[in-house]
Amino acid sequence: MSAVLESLVSLSRMLGEPARNLAIIGEGNTSIRVDDDSFYVKASGHHLGTITEAGFVQVGFAPILRLLDEPLTGPALQEAFLGARVDQTGAVRPSVEVTFHAMLLAECGVQCIAHTHPVEVNKILCSTRAEQFASNRTCPDEVVLCGPRSVFIPYFDPGLPLAVEMRRHVRAYIEENNEPPKVILLGNHGLIALGSSTTDAFNITQMAVKSAAIFAGACSIGEPVFMSREDIHHIYKRPDEIFRRRQFI
Ligand SMILES: [Zn+2]
Repeated sequence: MSAVLESLVSLSRMLGEPARNLAIIGEGNTSIRVDDDSFYVKASGHHLGTITEAGFVQVGFAPILRLLDEPLTGPALQEAFLGARVDQTGAVRPSVEVTFHAMLLAECGVQCIAHTHPVEVNKILCSTRAEQFASNRTCPDEVVLCGPRSVFIPYFDPGLPLAVEMRRHVRAYIEENNEPPKVILLGNHGLIALGSSTTDAFNITQMAVKSAAIFAGACSIGEPVFMSREDIHHIYKRPDEIFRRRQFI
């Protein structure tokens, strides 16, 4: 097994550990860039916690990215997914979310995507506070790991329609911030961490989950007190914090 795939398998197994409450049964999916032309993504029907290399499929960027501009549906879409595989033998099929993985790796230039359905995060994403949580920051370490804000996308049909809608939001974020987001929050659905490595994606996931618990706790006591945009910017751009962030990637 290649080192790239090995790191993706171990990230996926950590994310799927039952005590973490991030993903059960077939929930969640992960991906990692192989090179400019292809990436590994979880195959359909695998449990993150027990996944092996057989649970991943290598897919070409070009045929998947084409679908965002020339959408297909039904059997034609399924055929396009199968046709995008680097190895055409076997019946292994990419996750239905392969389109957003390709789009995020390509648009954001990151190395690894971790998508989970954390209980702590979804408590908020299934509430009227979802956008408030995404747009604000409560603690400096949340800023350092998760960025100055998260992208929030109200509920959208999973699969290709979600990927197309997500691309619109991600482009707007990059336009505004001159860098890609680290966290995307999907209303009534879950969390996406965009990492420069598997460790980075794991750390971002952990911090987003911890921040969700803090936010929910603050809401249960009174109104949460958020960091000012000025303080968020100051922490995010501080050289010692940037150094600290790089040490854990
Ligand atoms: Zn999902």
